[in-house]
Amino acid sequence: MFFYNRENVQGKEAKALSIILPTVGCRWRRCNMCSYFEDSPTDSSIDTFSIFVDEFNSAYDNEIRKVKLFTSGSFLDPREVRPECAKKIVSFLSEKGINEVTLESRPEYVIEGYLKELMEDSDLQIEVAIGLESSNNRVLEHSINKGFTFEDYISSSKVLKKLDIKNKAYLIIKPPFLTEKEAIYDAINSAKAIENIADVISFNPMTVHKDTLVEYLWNKGEYSPPWAWSILKILKETSNLRPDIICHPVAFGRSRGPKNCKNCNRDIEKRILEFSLNNDPDILDYECDCKKEWEEELLKF
Ligand code: SF4
Ligand SMILES: [Zn+2]
Repeated sequence: MFFYNRENVQGKEAKALSIILPTVGCRWRRCNMCSYFEDSPTDSSIDTFSIFVDEFNSAYDNEIRKVKLFTSGSFLDPREVRPECAKKIVSFLSEKGINEVTLESRPEYVIEGYLKELMEDSDLQIEVAIGLESSNNRVLEHSINKGFTFEDYISSSKVLKKLDIKNKAYLIIKPPFLTEKEAIYDAINSAKAIENIADVISFNPMTVHKDTLVEYLWNKGEYSPPWAWSILKILKETSNLRPDIICHPVAFGRSRGPKNCKNCNRDIEKRILEFSLNNDPDILDYECDCKKEWEEELLKF
């Protein structure tokens, strides 16, 4: 499966291709908001490289400058994507003249020797995206059950820096057990904590996935995804930080995703996507009557 989006690639707006690769999925599988691995094939003999080449060939056009690979886990986990396969994918993209590839990984698989091997004979710019979610270890442990600490992220970031690999961090907006107000501050504080470490910060507003603790709480009325107003506030307050700030919300305006009201959802989503290309905070100025309801929610503890 593949899809496209436009993003800033090495300083210029360009077309990016995202490919979802079938693998056995994440080894951790315990984050409170995630069930991606449920869609992973159980057959570990699957030929990921051939599937990748087929997907790439059917999706490719010569406007594409960047490829993002999603495995619903860690591309750098050698049990998930075998080292021969990972290496062939990187060499293939390099030969095709792609400028940049994004690979996702948990911090424990960011190993200097392995990355050096992958990058051998390729002039492709690699970007490693890590689902840090929050810089607060209490949030990581109790709200998310992430299984690693902020310090683990810092250690893996040092390896990336040493190898000139770009560092992209995903930060979550509104994990469970935080109020709307706490969630806003957690996202802003997390971005500030990695201002001089990450090259790109991608905010992920929560969506409710099936068969997760978040879904259980949501069904009981004890959790709701973030307001779009909260996203606007977070983006505005982090727009002047050094990293590129991006946000591509999923299920925006739907019951399981982030939202405001029917009158402003579409407009705000468009503004968030545009902001992600240029980080101009003026595009985030917006008014709608539903803002009062959000302001009332912020008073709750
Ligand atoms: S969020 Fe990432 S690390 Fe956590 S279970 Fe899902 S795929 Fe694994
Ligand atoms: Zn509204």
